[in-house]
Amino acid sequence: MKVIETVAEMKEARADMGVGVGLVPTMGGLHEGHLSLVRRARSADGHVVVSLFVNPSQFAPNEDFDAYPRDLGRDLRLLDAEGVGVVFAPAVEEMYPPGFDEWVEVRGPLTDRLEGAFRPQFFCGVTTVVARLLRIVRPQRAYFGEKDAQQLRVVRRMAEEQRLPVEIVGLPTLREPDGLAMSSRNSYLTPEERQAALVLPRALELGRTMVECERVRDAGKLKEALADCIRREPLARIDYVAVTDYETLEELTAIDRPALLLLAVRTGATRLIDNTPLTPHRSP
Ligand code: AMP
Repeated sequence: MKVIETVAEMKEARADMGVGVGLVPTMGGLHEGHLSLVRRARSADGHVVVSLFVNPSQFAPNEDFDAYPRDLGRDLRLLDAEGVGVVFAPAVEEMYPPGFDEWVEVRGPLTDRLEGAFRPQFFCGVTTVVARLLRIVRPQRAYFGEKDAQQLRVVRRMAEEQRLPVEIVGLPTLREPDGLAMSSRNSYLTPEERQAALVLPRALELGRTMVECERVRDAGKLKEALADCIRREPLARIDYVAVTDYETLEELTAIDRPALLLLAVRTGATRLIDNTPLTPHRSP
C-alpha cells in the first residue's frame, strides 16, 4: 500500500492508474462504516484511493477540530488489511496552500437548512475539500455514507454544478449491534452518554413504526412524538427532528412520498446525527 502525502505525488500516482479509480474520502478515525465504503470500492473499481484528511475548513472555531480522533498508524493498518492500493494523507498546507482561494459552494435551500442552519460554514468546507480531492484524484466513482445524508446530497449537487465526471455513490449506514450508528465521534461519549445516545436509533425506529405500520401521515404529529421520546432521555438535547422529501430534503407537512427522517441530538458535548428512510405505503 502506497501512502502519499503531497498533491504532486498523488497526481503522479494517478497518472499511472488509467480508468477504474474509486475514491473514499474520510477524516480518519476509521470504523467499520468507513471500511464498508472501502469494500464496495474494492469490489467495483480496479484502483482504490482512500483519503485521510481532517478538513479544518468544515469546523467552526468552537468545534472539535483539535480533539478530532487521529490515529494514522491504526488507520493505515486497517486499510492495508483491506487491500487498499493508495492512501492519500496530505498535510493541511498541501490542501490549502498559502493564498488558497478556490472555495466551492452549493447555495440555496439544500445547504441552508438542517446541518447548514446549525453549522453555517460546514458545507462550504465539505464541498471545497471534496471538489479539490476529486480534481486531484480524478476517480470515476466516489463513495459516501447515507449516515451523512445531507452531505451526500450536497456533494452530488456540487459534482453536477462543477461538471465533475464522477459518479457519487451513497451507501447504507453501518450500526453497532445495539443500533447506534457508527461514528468517529462516538469515542467522545462517556459510558452514560453512550447509553443515552441509544435514544437516536430508538426514535428512528419509532418513526418508522408510526409511518410504516400505523400509517401516520402528519409530519407535525410524527415530529412531536419523536421529540417527546428524545426529551425523556435526560442527557439528550435536540438540535432538530426533521421529516423531508427523500431526495430534495424539502420539509414535508404530509408524508405522502418517500421521505427521510433526520435527527441531530447532543448528548453531553457530543453532537450526533442519524437518519432513516420512511416509506409510506400507498393507499389501497
Ligand atoms: P467521516 O470520516 O466521518 O467524514 O466519514 C467519511 C465517510 O464515511 C462519509 O461519507 C460518511 O458518511 C461515511 N460514514 C460515516 N459513518 C458511517 C457509517 N456508520 N456507515 C456508513 N458510512 C459511514
